[in-house]
Amino acid sequence: MMRDTPLPPGSTIGILGGGQLGRMLSASASRLGLKTHIYNDTPDAPAFHVAAKASVGDYDDLEAVAQFAEKVDVVTCEFENVPAAALEAAGAAAPVFPPVKSFEVAQDRLTEKDFISGLGIAVAAYSPVDTLSDLKDSILRVPPPALLKTRRFGYDGKGQARIHTLCEAESAWESIGEAPAILEGMVAFERELSVVTVRGRDGEVRFYDVVENVHKDGILDTSTVPANIPAALAAEAQAIAGKIAEALGHVGVLTVEMFQTGGDKPSLAVNEIAPRVHNSGHWTQDACLINQFENHIRAICGWPLGDVARHSNAVMTNLIGDEADDWGEYAAEPGTAVHLYGKAEARPGRKMGHINRISPKT
Ligand code: AMP
Repeated sequence: MMRDTPLPPGSTIGILGGGQLGRMLSASASRLGLKTHIYNDTPDAPAFHVAAKASVGDYDDLEAVAQFAEKVDVVTCEFENVPAAALEAAGAAAPVFPPVKSFEVAQDRLTEKDFISGLGIAVAAYSPVDTLSDLKDSILRVPPPALLKTRRFGYDGKGQARIHTLCEAESAWESIGEAPAILEGMVAFERELSVVTVRGRDGEVRFYDVVENVHKDGILDTSTVPANIPAALAAEAQAIAGKIAEALGHVGVLTVEMFQTGGDKPSLAVNEIAPRVHNSGHWTQDACLINQFENHIRAICGWPLGDVARHSNAVMTNLIGDEADDWGEYAAEPGTAVHLYGKAEARPGRKMGHINRISPKT
């Protein structure tokens, strides 16, 4: 159901998911005079602190999801693993953006790899694994070192096992809970890149500058712009993201994570996509006039897309676990913007906030 006219200020956006992404989406919506109603499965959601309305319910409680959707003007999501049935239930009561297709593709690593390679875009070598015997066959087709990744519900390196030799097949299969999986060749990448793109309801696409990402223990550590890559490679990365956004009929922010390989003759392979605002786009809050959160809100509400031009260089650093305890030091640092998510408990590996270190544009 496509609206021809933009949702006016005063309208309410329903957001499924109440984590830090929902919190930052909500803050951006409020700048535009829009309200948010957050739906989350636990009562201690960071986004509840900054929303006009909050509902607590399971994502599988389709009646509760439908009731929530009836009270809002448009529904969006801040995490990709929203059950398809919940999206359908919400969709019966209000327009839902991004479209279900974007979630179907992003939720399943096999569907995702098939979809992206079907567009003629390079991905790592991969093979589907449903049984231990599939895994042993796959090791012959996708030679180690390789990563066994569950098809669904993996994030930040969870649900993954490294395989160096055939002997490790059994223990790797057990370690991922014998769940449907893919075996994926390890890519000897030079660097990891991502493109945060936004597509409007009218099909207009805009790209933020390409980001260079460094992960630590499977979790994003830093995102740097500009990425230290040739302009032609940056253009290629953006073209890939645009092709995927187009093919999905995506509306909203879409993030595409890629590996750069090939030394002097660089090439790109897509790792994965996220049908949402992304940690590697947090730098846009302080280095662009219109950040990824506002552009997502603008896109799903049918507003004109905002200016994605970068006016500064930026290095975003995640504050994981007790790293956020040093907020006072970061707050005193010149050229640094501190963003904290209001989470009560700093568990190891938990994203508590981030800082953007800003410097003049080069
Ligand atoms: P993922 O959950 O697939 O995004 O994986 C998290 C991180 O693990 C990636 O950002 C990479 O740093 C690393 N990784 C994942 N897949 C591969 C691969 N096929 N080759 C090399 N590194 C990988």
